[in-house]
Amino acid sequence: MARLVMKFGGSSVGSAERIQIVAERIMEKKKEGNEVVVVVSAMGDTTDELLDLSKQITDSPPSREMDMLLTTGEQISVSLLSMALQEKMQPAVSYTGWQIGMMTDGCHGRAKITDIQPNVIYTALDQDKVVVVAGFQGVSENGEITTLGRGGSDTTAVAVAAAIEADYCEIYSDVDGIYSTDPRIVPCAKKLDEISYDEMLELANLGAAVLHPRAVEYAKHYRVPLIVRSSFNHHEGTIVKEESGMEQGAIVSGIAYDKHVARISIMGVEDTPGVLAVFFNALADRHINVDVIVQGGTKDGKADFSFTVSLDDVEAATDTIKSCRDCANFDEVISETNLVKVSIVGAGMVSHAGVASKMFDVISKQGVTIKMVSTSEIKTSCIIAQDSLTEVILALHTAYGLDTNQQAVVGGPKVRR
Ligand code: ASP
Ligand code: MG
Repeated sequence: MARLVMKFGGSSVGSAERIQIVAERIMEKKKEGNEVVVVVSAMGDTTDELLDLSKQITDSPPSREMDMLLTTGEQISVSLLSMALQEKMQPAVSYTGWQIGMMTDGCHGRAKITDIQPNVIYTALDQDKVVVVAGFQGVSENGEITTLGRGGSDTTAVAVAAAIEADYCEIYSDVDGIYSTDPRIVPCAKKLDEISYDEMLELANLGAAVLHPRAVEYAKHYRVPLIVRSSFNHHEGTIVKEESGMEQGAIVSGIAYDKHVARISIMGVEDTPGVLAVFFNALADRHINVDVIVQGGTKDGKADFSFTVSLDDVEAATDTIKSCRDCANFDEVISETNLVKVSIVGAGMVSHAGVASKMFDVISKQGVTIKMVSTSEIKTSCIIAQDSLTEVILALHTAYGLDTNQQAVVGGPKVRR
């Protein structure tokens, strides 16, 4: 017998019929003798539809009211799923985030979980019920309803799993698992049997939309094994867990891309100490996440800086930089869109040389210019023009031996000191 959390995404509960199928799926696990807590997203495109609705009322909805509105989506799906289970003679109970003590900070629209008081869940489990919890929502200390940010139900699921010390957490969606890259671009992409938290974290942060990065972070921190699988079939999914041994890690496990990036360049900045801090503190104050940062050469005491932000933040970031003029002198700010960030990720990169240089080689052989580069121990990312995305990913996928039935041959082992 295990204790587990099953999380179903919007497409898995997109209709009354789908809810019935999901109920059956839950009952299979329950009949195996497991304790089951279920976390669900809003049905289908409900959240988007609610957002559209608010836009018809106002261009700038107060964030508090937005959270009131958006949390209704999950309240619909939990109640219907609980009804479906009870109709099939499976005792069940649905709860909102606040009912299970999902405490968050007060940051509407992007709240962070601070605590969970799972007594209600334990009581229901003791009564042999399936507990159905609304994803994506919580409550602040002041009793205000909050949401965890788009895609936040994954985080709810992992947080609940950690709080109730579940043996594992299954994330059900409409894909079979984690793939070496997007199968819509590379038809011979392979489904991975397992992947480490760190690799998954990089992939999720880099645009692989299957799992929310914060959920992976949480899972890594609390060591909750995640299983990513489809609610539309019974295929084995991908297990996300602790790396068993870095040396055994694939050199490149996956290739991710993110079209949601823009480059902001600040040209002719008077290069005085602390000038970067002025810009980046101002961006941080407005909660604008900055990703790749590049400083060009200094000429006549002036330097150029470039950084990337999410496409949604281009205007805010440009305005923020302009507003720094009082404290930092510069010539102009330029923003550039139609870009994509392509990244290779693999735990084995730590111990193998030549992985990044191969990436640059492959991209340049496609006649594509690399605009920016960033690296971490287990990933290398390049910003390129969006219209070269497909050819670049196809070429990288082959080059790193990721095509189905192909063996990876990259560089030699690095000499470790
Ligand atoms: N319903 C929310 C969204 O669409 C949360 C989620 O699905 O995870 O973003
Ligand atoms: Mg999702």
